[in-house]
Amino acid sequence: MSSAFVDSLLSPIVARNPAEPEFIQAVREVLESLEPVVQKRKEIAKLKIIERLVEPERQLIFRVPWVDDKGEIRVNRGFRVQFNSALGPYKGGLRLHPSVNLGIIKFLGFEQVFKNALTTTPIGGGKGGSDFDPKGKSDAEVMKFCQSFMSELFRHIGSETDVPAGDIGVGGREIGYLYGQHKRLTNSFTGVLTGKGLHYGGSLARTEATGYGLVYFTTRMLEDQKTDWKGKRVVISGSGNVAIYATEKIQELDGKVVALSDSNGYILDEEGIDLAAVKRIKEEERGRIKEYLSVRPRAVYTEGCSGIWTIPCDVALPCATQNELDGKSAAILVKNHCIAVAEGANMPCTPEAVTCFQSAGVSFGPAKAANAGGVATSALEMSQNSMRLSWTFDEVDAKLHGIMDSIYTQCRDASEAYGLAGNLVAGANIAGFLRVADAMIAQGVV
Ligand code: NDP
Repeated sequence: MSSAFVDSLLSPIVARNPAEPEFIQAVREVLESLEPVVQKRKEIAKLKIIERLVEPERQLIFRVPWVDDKGEIRVNRGFRVQFNSALGPYKGGLRLHPSVNLGIIKFLGFEQVFKNALTTTPIGGGKGGSDFDPKGKSDAEVMKFCQSFMSELFRHIGSETDVPAGDIGVGGREIGYLYGQHKRLTNSFTGVLTGKGLHYGGSLARTEATGYGLVYFTTRMLEDQKTDWKGKRVVISGSGNVAIYATEKIQELDGKVVALSDSNGYILDEEGIDLAAVKRIKEEERGRIKEYLSVRPRAVYTEGCSGIWTIPCDVALPCATQNELDGKSAAILVKNHCIAVAEGANMPCTPEAVTCFQSAGVSFGPAKAANAGGVATSALEMSQNSMRLSWTFDEVDAKLHGIMDSIYTQCRDASEAYGLAGNLVAGANIAGFLRVADAMIAQGVV
């Protein structure tokens, strides 16, 4: 979709940010929802809110040298993009994956600004990471990398400034190493990272939060179609943090998850996924999803990722990475009578895929709303750290559930208020944007 409104705002952004296709894709998607808002609220154009929002407040790029187990010196590139602090300290994960570059971190940071706003917790948006690949590295190598990464990052973050968390390739092990190095360098024990271990300031239910939150959000989408998870056949891509805990919650609600994947291929288990086996392979042994066949020989493994969307299902949850579900895959899901798609990963559906779902009447939950449960629970971890208290699992889970319900309601109400009823993409963009824009307007030209 293109319009004079989008084109006029986008062309200087494209010119200023060459070779950042994912960032431009994320900006375009938000701009496409904002025309009715800018028409109604004239001060947004006058105060150049959009022009200011697309420019990160600060971008850091740094060298990360470390020594591998063979004594060889390795050099990676580190990033932290502090995108917008109108609503609170910058908040967003760190991604360790060979595909990481500035454009990817900027797309994630931009999305994070609106996602964090939707949680209604007091956090701004940021993102960071490195092109370091943790796959195949020993614990000692991962620790050395994390220590070197933090030796630069510590100057720029703090519990009142910028609070990073995990993302692809960054789980409890990496957060622990990063936290230890930060503590050593600053001589302070603060809530500077979230996703911490439970024995040193972490929150119960943070590990489960993104996956569970995704399911709470999708439950509302299903309710709008007068149905629930019972007996639903579900396909989920990925087999990391988000995919595993989405599977857990769906199984609890009597849905049947039949497929999961990793970056090599996917498994189809018609009997329903044995989650204990997946957790052992992925969380404990850091193995490949193919190894699932040794537990369930009747399951089928297929090499390559995109074929997973050819499996007929009622609900599809892409939970691996950006642009993993394209227009062609979306058309197959539609043909197979899929009724709901919600994004667990960030921007996993291409614009063509989103258009295909929306025009076919498939209920579609965008990432910045549907996967906001992780960062919402990170904000709850920050609250507990500030109070020096810990809530129980059930208390945190209940707050998470309430936040996801509120996000759904905000998206639905905003889409209706701007004449776009049923379009949760527009609803999420508008509701998130307005919270940030109002705070920016109140704070003047900064
Ligand atoms: P993990 O690292 O735990 O798992 C990522 C999964 O996706 C793995 O199965 C991985 O396979 C697969 N994957 C990664 N890159 C690719 C690729 N290029 N092609 C195909 N598969 C790939 O990450 P998370 O589960 O934490 O994150 C998944 C997604 O959810 C990301 O988009 C992330 O930004 C988003 N997200 C995560 C949140 C969180 O709290 N963790 C919060 C909100 C969003 P392999 O093991 O082979 O690499």
